[in-house]
Amino acid sequence: GRRLEGRTALVTGALSGIGQAAADRLEAEGARVFRLDLSPAEGERRIAADVSDLSAWRQVAELIRAETPTLDILVNSAGIFGLGSLAEHSAESFYRFFAVNQLGPALGIKALLPLLRRAGNASVVNVASGAALFGFDNALGYMSSKWGLRGASRALARELAPEVRVNCIFPGLIDTPMAGINSAERQSDIAERTPLKRIGRPEEVAAAIAFLASDDASYITGSELTIDGGICA
Ligand code: NAD
Repeated sequence: GRRLEGRTALVTGALSGIGQAAADRLEAEGARVFRLDLSPAEGERRIAADVSDLSAWRQVAELIRAETPTLDILVNSAGIFGLGSLAEHSAESFYRFFAVNQLGPALGIKALLPLLRRAGNASVVNVASGAALFGFDNALGYMSSKWGLRGASRALARELAPEVRVNCIFPGLIDTPMAGINSAERQSDIAERTPLKRIGRPEEVAAAIAFLASDDASYITGSELTIDGGICA
């Protein structure tokens, strides 16, 4: 159905993977979708910006305000991944994880808050990771930043209620360029460790995002949803 008819949405990281699938899904459900990513792209409502840059976010807010007084949906999917031990992380590499994965969503919400508040019934979906629920090896910067995003999501759910709902999702391994599942061997290794016996598809994460963005989730804020084939179970 078209649950999101008449709504306006902004999706970050919208040129790839989960963000792209989310933007497509929201659009299919009737929303008008702004697609933000690092590099400029052809097409309507494409925005080039770095989510870790507050002044860039302020320009994004201006741009959206020029077209519409309200923003109903914000999906924070832009993120970076990388492995590394404590010894391998420089202060700069730590900072980059925090700046993009943790601070990015908060800066976006900060810049867009007047538009979100004015919508009256806005929904923010932050894309964390199973790595913010359990641990995995050699991912200090990534894990730290995603646990930070989890905390920020709860803090903002409390702070921005009742006008804005804020929820956080925790994908498991999803078949996107970031996951880089390029060998059949790795694919079957993941399938074996996953209760549902396969890797996830970006569209399956997008379906959960669309639910949380919609009025079907009208009493859901501060919640945490895994979309991981049961791997965190
Ligand atoms: P992806 O690499 O396919 O897409 C990420 C997009 O974000 C890219 O288009 C990239 O250009 C953009 N981006 C990166 N840094 C940015 C910045 N500073 N400003 C604006 N855009 C930026 O990755 P994906 O798998 O679709 O990941 C989306 C989100 O899901 C990420 O936050 C990631 O951590 C999370 N996640 C992914 C998986 C997985 O298995 N793929 C699992 C758990 C969580």
